Amino acid sequence: HKDYIDSFRYKKAALRDGTRVHMLANAAKTVDAKDIEGYQLDGIGLFRTEYLYYEHNDLPSEEVQFEYYKSVLSTAGEKSVTFRTFDIGGDKAVPQLTVSQETNPFLGLRGIRLALYHSQAFRIHLRALVRASHYGRMEIMFPFICNVQEVLQAKKLLQEVMSELTLEGHSYDSNIPVGIMVEIPSAAINIESFIRHCDFVSIGTNDLVQYTLGIDRTNPLVADLYREEDPAVLELIAKVASAGQKYQVPVSVCGEMAGNPKFTEFLIGLGIAKLSMSVARSSEIKEILSRTTLDECAIIAAQMLHAGT
Ligand code: PEP
Ligand code: MG
Repeated sequence: HKDYIDSFRYKKAALRDGTRVHMLANAAKTVDAKDIEGYQLDGIGLFRTEYLYYEHNDLPSEEVQFEYYKSVLSTAGEKSVTFRTFDIGGDKAVPQLTVSQETNPFLGLRGIRLALYHSQAFRIHLRALVRASHYGRMEIMFPFICNVQEVLQAKKLLQEVMSELTLEGHSYDSNIPVGIMVEIPSAAINIESFIRHCDFVSIGTNDLVQYTLGIDRTNPLVADLYREEDPAVLELIAKVASAGQKYQVPVSVCGEMAGNPKFTEFLIGLGIAKLSMSVARSSEIKEILSRTTLDECAIIAAQMLHAGT
């Protein structure tokens, strides 16, 4: 059976009825990007840029970042790479940017909040990204969004950076798709207000589960309560998926749930046609997809949504 699953490595992701599913890789390093060709994936759905910040004693300069993002895009070739702007804070500390005395770092200055707070570092980051966009197919995604103002502020900053780069004579893609991560319940509950400002949204189930259930995703004492299958979590995901269909905005899942075989049919059944996961999970998920149809998935999704427990 293992050989059979491994054979899916060389196939594109598709359902039994022929429907194509976009399967993307989660990545954090240039080397991961190389895997997308070998595993027949459609691009990188989550590139975690914060890793660059951990590897240096000083904050990485614009030039260092630019070269790095450019190399990721060149590796991906024709395929798109969704760069998540640095998601620092919470459990991801970077000495120059994070505050160590926070009582509740997971509810504190993290993700987009920290980026808007350290706006100079954020500007440099955005400049490097936008400049790199000239060398491939880039999308930009903002993490840990909890209110609409954050989306507008981040987009405004991006616009300012683009105008600045135009004046300086740099070439870049002026139509970079811009989206948000839906990983705080407020964004899922009120998704219609957010989605109209987005070219795409991606559900970060790791944090969405943590904040919906109030369970620290890193605490082994409560690990058995960390349940992706909780009805409240499933309902939030369904809500985001249906807003995506209503407003014709692509919805993907980039948390661990995307690579968990228990949820493959559920997510497809909700109309989510883009799954981003660690490369190691992709063959198993492709095999599940090959055995099912859109109609079958829709029935399973409805059953799971109505299960109640
Ligand atoms: C998530 O929260 O689901 C996610 C993909 O982001 P991270 O795991 O990096 O917080
Ligand atoms: Mg997250």
